[in-house]
Amino acid sequence: MQFRDLKQQYQVLKKDIDNAMTKVATDCNFISGQQVKDLEKELAEYVGVKHCITCANGTDALTLALMAWNIGKGDAVFVPDFTFFASGECPALEGATPVFVDVKEETYNIDSEKLETAIKRVIDEGKYMPKVVVAVDLFGQPAEYDKIRHICDKYNLLLLEDGAQGFGGSINEKMACSFGDIATTSFFPAKPLGCYGDGGAIFTDNDQWAELIRSYAVHGKGSMKYDNVRIGLNSRLDTIQAAILQVKLKAFKDYEVDAVNKVARMYTEALKNSSIVLPVVLENYVSSWAQYTVQLPEEIDRVALQADLKERGIPTMVYYPKPMHLQGAFEGTDSAEADCSVTAKLCKCVLALPMHPYMTEENVNEVVNALIEKISK
Ligand SMILES: *Cc1c(COP(=O)(O)O)cnc(C)c1O
Repeated sequence: MQFRDLKQQYQVLKKDIDNAMTKVATDCNFISGQQVKDLEKELAEYVGVKHCITCANGTDALTLALMAWNIGKGDAVFVPDFTFFASGECPALEGATPVFVDVKEETYNIDSEKLETAIKRVIDEGKYMPKVVVAVDLFGQPAEYDKIRHICDKYNLLLLEDGAQGFGGSINEKMACSFGDIATTSFFPAKPLGCYGDGGAIFTDNDQWAELIRSYAVHGKGSMKYDNVRIGLNSRLDTIQAAILQVKLKAFKDYEVDAVNKVARMYTEALKNSSIVLPVVLENYVSSWAQYTVQLPEEIDRVALQADLKERGIPTMVYYPKPMHLQGAFEGTDSAEADCSVTAKLCKCVLALPMHPYMTEENVNEVVNALIEKISK
């Protein structure tokens, strides 16, 4: 069994993907080909925003958003303590100070009450200027944007949606990557919508930011590529990745998001009477199930459990083993000071189970039976 079965997906989409890749090789339009422009249009339409700008990866997407907002030294950027490193790395790379905020035990997403407390504390201390909230759609479920937006408005903060894992999810049918003033996603192969290498995208309704981001992504270009009006990056999505994504986006829209939701329902139904804590999707929210993450009972030895499952051919992962504020990179900085007891607890007990659109009911049962057997022993 695969944790995320990209081989199976390729077998299903092989003809179209092979054709798409061959066309790029034939045309040799490797950089900024028509497929990139077409994909950007398709992505913007799917998400329901005015602009989509593709780039080299999801990390650059976050950096480009922060560059467009001129975030840097002296600025505080609020980031969940339970997320992938890039969510906090990018603000720090720009010179800003990430302020890590605890998450909710049920949804794994940023706790809006603790967010407001953290903002007030930073204002009171007066050392940093609150500027941005990075809300992460962790494991596929959008963050609680009604509450977060309210807080951002109240304190005049910009909202950056890190939708690297949330692409395809929604709240009341409004799509993930449409909630931030700017939103970003990643096309890393294992993400809900992945390409065959690195890739990313930025979404916004704001014309001025979109234009700035297009400039920053190509060496700070002005009227043309060899007119450079600001210091930027070289961060583009390859044409071959765009061509692959066009094929995969179609499957994603047609059936893959539905399929992962079906797998999630099977897991939830089969595990509901166990001592394992299951992921909660809020009412009117849809998750794109980047991960199906459960919480193990306290007495379970996670390392031993993973080894046992692996022996039976069942791969599992731990996202994430370490709170952001305890990462070595933040040691000795103000970002290392955070009060995040929920994150600390989650890091010790979470376990991500195999999850992808091509999982069968037999696959799910195999995982569930092995898990229940080990847990109840
Ligand atoms: C994967 C991920 C990123 C970074 O994306 P890359 O394409 O790997 O650079 C950022 N934030 C979150 C939450 C992610 O899961």
